[in-house]
This record gives sequence, C-alpha cells and structure tokens, in this order.
Amino acid sequence: MAYVIVGTCINDAACVDVCPVDCILPRPNDPRFREADMLAIDPAACIDCNACAEACPVNAIYSEHRLPQALQRYRRINAELTGRAVT
Ligand code: SF4
Ligand code: SF4
Repeated sequence: MAYVIVGTCINDAACVDVCPVDCILPRPNDPRFREADMLAIDPAACIDCNACAEACPVNAIYSEHRLPQALQRYRRINAELTGRAVT
C-alpha cells in the first residue's frame, strides 16, 4: 500500500518537506517542479506513514486503500509520474 496524490494538488510542496523517505516528486529544486501539474508519490518507496496527508492543505493525498472509486486512476498516474511500473 502507498499514498496517492490526486488532481486537486496545488503544488505548494508542503508534503515534500515532511516525507521521511523523499518519495514525493518532483522536488522543488528539480526543474520539472515548475511545469508539473501535480506532485506524485513513488508507490514503491512510500512507507505509509501518513505525514504527507496531514500536511496537505487541500486534502489531495489519500491512503491507497481509502481512495474513492472516482479517483482510482490516480494510482496509475502517481506510478507513471514517478517512473514506476503500473501495478
Ligand atoms: S505516506 Fe509517508 S512515506 Fe508515503 S509519501 Fe506520505 S510522507 Fe512519504
Ligand atoms: S501538500 Fe497537497 S497540495 Fe501541497 S504539493 Fe503536496 S499534495 Fe499537493
């Protein structure tokens, strides 16, 4: 299980600073950050700690097993945006 960012993300990077394993991408010092529509969580690296979800000001982060049906596509989108194979 991993956490998943959805399309309501406003790219303020509040979650990036609190992630203990640095698995939220792109980071603000990455040139791709400026062009990113949303940030994404690497599902293979996430340790399910919930810190990002608590830090997000717009509730754009869900635990994978609590992701509403209408937002399931973001599992694939997070995997693709972080360069992981889709499971
Ligand atoms: S749940 Fe924890 S490890 Fe996973 S992305 Fe959020 S802060 Fe990082
Ligand atoms: S804290 Fe929420 S709104 Fe901010 S970058 Fe992370 S997911 Fe997006």
